[in-house]
This record gives sequence, C-alpha cells and structure tokens, in this order.
Amino acid sequence: MRIAEIAPPWVRVPPQGYGGIEWIISLLCDGLVDRGHDVTLYASGDSKTKARLSAPFDYAVSLGGKDFYDAVHPMAIQTMPAFLEAERYDIIHDHTGAMAACLGALSDTPVLHTLHGPFNPDVRRLCRMIADEIYFNSISDSQRSGCPELNYVGTIYNAVEVETYPLRAEKEAYALFLGRFSEDKGAHNAIYIAQQANIPLHMAGKVDPGADAHYFKEHIEPHIDGEHIVYEGEVGGQRKRELLAGARFLLFPIQWEEPFGLVMTEALACGTPVVADAMGAAPEIVKDGEVGVLVGKGEWDEMVAVIKSGRLDDIDPNHCREYVHERFSVEAMVSGYEAAFEKILLDRA
Ligand code: UDP
Repeated sequence: MRIAEIAPPWVRVPPQGYGGIEWIISLLCDGLVDRGHDVTLYASGDSKTKARLSAPFDYAVSLGGKDFYDAVHPMAIQTMPAFLEAERYDIIHDHTGAMAACLGALSDTPVLHTLHGPFNPDVRRLCRMIADEIYFNSISDSQRSGCPELNYVGTIYNAVEVETYPLRAEKEAYALFLGRFSEDKGAHNAIYIAQQANIPLHMAGKVDPGADAHYFKEHIEPHIDGEHIVYEGEVGGQRKRELLAGARFLLFPIQWEEPFGLVMTEALACGTPVVADAMGAAPEIVKDGEVGVLVGKGEWDEMVAVIKSGRLDDIDPNHCREYVHERFSVEAMVSGYEAAFEKILLDRA
C-alpha cells in the first residue's frame, strides 16, 4: 500500500524526550516499511524514520507559548502537503487532530484519523460533522465511549517496544511520576500520596509554558527538596529507562479521561508495577492485582493504604513485562493498522 502518515509539527519523530504520539508514529512507520509498504511520513526534518520523509520544517517547531493563531499555521504547513499530493497515496493516516480531519473530509483519497486526545463538546461536534467522510480509530475503548457513534475501524492500542526497556527485578525505594506536569496528570496528587505514604518521589517530565508553568510553580515547585521530592526535569533515552526500571512503582494519579497513557506500558516493560485510579484507559492497561493496583477515581487515601500495605511489592516484575509484551506489542499495533487500512480500501472499492 502507498501510505501517507502525518505527524504533528511540535516534536521530532521519534522524540528525544517527551512525546507519546511521535513514538507511536515512529514505530508504526518503521513497522509498515519493514512489511513492504511504501510509506511517506510528513514530519519535521530532524526526524529519523525508515519511511520517505517529507519535511516542511527543518526542525520541530516549538509549541511553547504559542497562541492559537501562531499554532494553527505550522500545523497547516505540515499537514497540507499530504493532501495536495493525495493522489499519490492509497490511504492517508493522520495523527494531527482537527486540521487533517477537516482536510480529510474533502479528500478523494480515504483518510484514517487516529484520535489521540479525549473528546470534549467541540471535538465531538466536529467529528460528528465529518463522520461520513473519514474513518476513525480510537486508542482505547474508554476514549471511544466519549463518542461511540463514529465510523470506527477499530480500537488499536498504542504499543511499547519492550526490548528497548531494561527489566529490573531489584527495585529502589522511590516511587516515580513521569509525564506532563499538568493538573490532568495529577502530579500534585503524586506528591500528596508520596508524602502520606512516607516514600521518596522522583518526578520527571516537561512543563509547558502558560497554564502548566503556572500550575508547576504553584503546586509542584514548593515541595521539591531534592530528598523526599526529587525533580529531574524532562528526561529521555537512557535516564528515562533507568528511572522507570529502578522505581518501586509508577504513580499514576490522573484526574482526566486518559485516552491511553503510554507511560504505564513503559513502566510495565521495565517490570515496574503501576498504581493508578480507575479513570480513562487505566483499567484497560493495568490488570488490577496482576501488574498493579487500581483504586477508585480520586481515592488518594486508598492509594496511600495500598502503598503502605506492600501489595505492590508482591507483584512479579517478569510477569509485568510478559503481560505488556502480550497486550501492547509493536507487532500487534502494526498489524492492527495494516488490517484497518485494508478494511477501508475494501469499503471504498
Ligand atoms: N516522556 C519522556 N520524558 C519526559 C516525560 C515524558 O520521554 O520527561 C514520554 C513518556 O515516557 C511517554 C510520553 O512522553 O512516552 C508521554 O505519553 P503519555 O501517553 O504517557 O502521555 P501524554 O501523551 O498524555 O502526555
């Protein structure tokens, strides 16, 4: 198949630090090329891929602090060429949100739109408006339940390249928070829980300018002391893997409808159990009692009790890794997209 994949312009593919969508795009492009497909990736010029790279920008464009007007133009610059060249492709697969979804609705070449965020009233309204024109893919059943009536080809889970993560059975004393510092991800809840459970907490992730920077300054920074609450900034590559593998467990006290939560699968790949509250896709990723523990939505004191009980220490690291490999392998994800493309082409034939 001749396939166009469109990445957002904000982070190179694959990312060097933060970036979930871009990891998925990277693994998917390489996997599709390995299976003999002719793949063109629209991404920034510093990206590394087995696909043919079409790069409107030499480097990833920093989203930092951009308002909507500033942001919408780079998004259009990266997305538009795929549609201008649409007749070159059997299918266009986009990961960029509203921009490519709208262009896709006007395209003769079939378009698969992978939803990477949660639904809100405007996203739902737009998706319903173009529901007959493009095909949708959800990355969890929980995400899909936010707007179940669209033309879904399936739920294709994100994947983790397990072999690139170290398995470590002997853990250190700390709990880990890894991700975006935003209220949704519950970094402040992680601090509360670690303090109540009396365990050291290592925190790593990116802080976006604007609301997240304000949140960080107000709710996170005052607690950082380099001993009980250790802050490492944004991490990538080796350091990220060391942190994940050494942690006693990953703390995932979210307060939003998490569409997937790649970081949970990365922790499991390292044999590190996950403690999360049962929101969004967390129950689809963490099998309660087997590779981690789920508590009720926002039940932070219950989380503290779970940690104090030592239940997380009884979880077998080898099993966590096997479990994640079985459920969230790159092979399964690539096969899922391959099958989805074939289904769409058959539908359009
Ligand atoms: N990440 C990273 N370094 C950081 C913070 C996050 O490499 O300092 C990675 C993390 O390992 C994961 C991705 O960024 O691969 C975040 O994806 P996730 O689905 O967990 O969260 P979201 O896309 O909602 O931010």
